[in-house]
Amino acid sequence: MTKEIDQNIKEKIESSERILIASHVRPDADAAGSLLGLGLALKQAGKQVQMVLEDGADKFQYLPEYDLIRQSAQAKVDMVVVVDCSDPTRVGHVLDDYGRPDLVVDHHKTNLDFGTYNVVEPEQAATAAILFDHLPDWGLSYSPEVANCLLSGIVGDTIGFRTSNVNSDLLRKAASLMDLGADLAEIYREELVMKPFTAVRYWGSGLSRLEHEDGLVWTSLTLADREKIEYAGNDDADLVNVLSSVKEAEIALIFVEQPQNEVKVSWRANPGLDVSGIAFEFGGGGHAAAAGADISGTLSEVKKRVIIETKKLLEHQKATKG
Ligand code: 5GP
Ligand code: MN
Repeated sequence: MTKEIDQNIKEKIESSERILIASHVRPDADAAGSLLGLGLALKQAGKQVQMVLEDGADKFQYLPEYDLIRQSAQAKVDMVVVVDCSDPTRVGHVLDDYGRPDLVVDHHKTNLDFGTYNVVEPEQAATAAILFDHLPDWGLSYSPEVANCLLSGIVGDTIGFRTSNVNSDLLRKAASLMDLGADLAEIYREELVMKPFTAVRYWGSGLSRLEHEDGLVWTSLTLADREKIEYAGNDDADLVNVLSSVKEAEIALIFVEQPQNEVKVSWRANPGLDVSGIAFEFGGGGHAAAAGADISGTLSEVKKRVIIETKKLLEHQKATKG
């Protein structure tokens, strides 16, 4: 039986002609795949859909119809949806003129429930997996394009089914998405294997100053690195995933310098540890195994503060685990 909230969402979709969907700044594959997957399903149902990522979708050119994604919203809409985002500030300025979202679909346990309807399922490995479950309840259907977008989200957030929250239920969802037309090998290749030359050189800058102490492995990427190498993004080009493959790293950290005295910090933790709380305390959020925050201060100040606190956290979590 369809739950009451799903029925309410279905009715809201049915009565809405123009729908705006947004996700977070520095989008990852789950943000872009969930946004496009839901957006294409709504378009198929005859809706006028605006899909907006403030930082654009250049990294996701392998996703079907990625060029429909805009960097700002225009005109009035009847319904606002936010996907894969635990708090409204992380959407950037996209929602400034639109008020409270009608629907939030997310899997972060730090979610602030900032929508009228909140479909927040922290046990799910990706927002795209939540959408896979609910699309039929909301009167929407899967095309091969929708399936490709959703499987991209799942592959992205599980780093290719490698995270400890991957279970048989998720693999069955992935198998169903393949039956619906998603191309797993192609998604895997585009999303996880192939990297632009500039991104790998950018990794080189970070790897050249890699540090290791007391179970923590970390490095930083500076604005000067990006300028020198001509790396176009404002992110870490997924270098944090390389850092978390270092055997000595119980927690891996990366500090990415941003303009205006800000630093983007990413944490990655081994199974059994939880870095979502520390990210939340620094004004960000995320999951037990992967979390992030934008922190004000110079690169060296932020590094110092975060490393001290993360070391304390690791010591405490190891002590209480016995
Ligand atoms: P990453 O470190 O790769 O940016 O993100 C890891 C996880 O933490 C993702 O699920 C991401 O959505 C979340 N996250 C990263 N940065 C922030 C932030 O500034 N605020 C919040 N609320 N979540 C974040
Ligand atoms: Mn996600």
